[in-house]
Amino acid sequence: MTKEELLKEASAFQAELVSVRRELHKHPELEFDLTFTRQFIWDKLLEIGVEPVSMGKSGIIVTLGGHKPGKCILLRADMDALPILEEADVDYKSTIEGKMHGCGHDMHSAMLLGATRLLKEHEEEIEGTVKIEFQPAEETFTGSRDMLASGLLKNPQVDAASMIHVIAGQPIPSGAVLVSCGGIATASCEQYQITVKGKGGHGSTPNLAIDPITAAAQIHLALQEINARELDGNDYGVFTTCRFEAGHTSNVIPDTATMWGTIRTVDPDNKVGEYIKKRMTEIATGIGTALRCEVKVEFYNFCPCMQVDEELSVAGLKYMTELLGQGAIDMKLITGGKAGGGSEDFAFVSHEVPTLSMFLSAGSSNEGYMYGQHNPKVIFNDDVLYIGAAIHTYMALRWLEEHK
Ligand SMILES: [Zn+2]
Ligand SMILES: [Zn+2]
Repeated sequence: MTKEELLKEASAFQAELVSVRRELHKHPELEFDLTFTRQFIWDKLLEIGVEPVSMGKSGIIVTLGGHKPGKCILLRADMDALPILEEADVDYKSTIEGKMHGCGHDMHSAMLLGATRLLKEHEEEIEGTVKIEFQPAEETFTGSRDMLASGLLKNPQVDAASMIHVIAGQPIPSGAVLVSCGGIATASCEQYQITVKGKGGHGSTPNLAIDPITAAAQIHLALQEINARELDGNDYGVFTTCRFEAGHTSNVIPDTATMWGTIRTVDPDNKVGEYIKKRMTEIATGIGTALRCEVKVEFYNFCPCMQVDEELSVAGLKYMTELLGQGAIDMKLITGGKAGGGSEDFAFVSHEVPTLSMFLSAGSSNEGYMYGQHNPKVIFNDDVLYIGAAIHTYMALRWLEEHK
């Protein structure tokens, strides 16, 4: 199949891909709790004529090809939505109050369904095996780990992996694909919660209480020392407390004060992150003890840096240039090779097998798409769905062809 034939065949599915995506958009679901989404995708896979297999808590796997000897490439889409109330004015708006496909994972699922159909129709041309992954719980950084623990990369053994994320609201024309360069593509992320427990009381008699607010405020300020005085200037390590809660009224000293935040680094071994965690714990408990409070420091939902394989990145850019000409953009030209601050849980896979991540523009700010992912007003341009399907397909066919 030539690239012209591929784009033509993919564009013939465009109306179907739009209807699939909008149906998913109307029914956003969270984390592993994907009853509608999973069944909908499962039924579409059966219609295509492939055999879906359950994996982990709510993932789906499809294996294609294997008639000709060769390697195995994994293509992945995530399926979960976000707990936000949709404010976008679209006629396929979320029907579930407080949930929205605000990250474009509905687009990802539709594009990968399109690619599955294209690959099924050209199965005899696959020089090896393509493994298709529909993954739950990306937003909580728990789905990729669950799939890996359930044997994602085994039987058949995966040799390389590729994913696409849509972006919107940036001055990049719809349909352009950004190919990440080799190295760290996205930062790691880990959440923390610091709970400071004192003893509540009347606002008039702080001497009879133990005020957790003053202790928590001092902990918050003291933690800045880690960035300001302890980290090497060359080590990227950012942590930010974004939520701080204590008390309910103006004349009652509360029992507890709680802080939540995230730690981000671009260290593949996460030594910087481990150092920050160790010092956060020491400083918070030390100050808490000095001020007669009990302090609990907890860390959860770790996601490592996304490590893009150099060779796969060079190959990916070559294939995308073949397929889309000037529509293929080297990410390095935009970022200067620096990692982005956002995180992506396909990073867990990137630490196991050579991995590529690509970004497909689905709505440019120059075209009137003003909002980015996770914004309650974001609208994705679903004219690009067939391009996403073609990108997945071409990436898999070309990489397998060149790595026999
Ligand atoms: Zn997201
Ligand atoms: Zn996402």
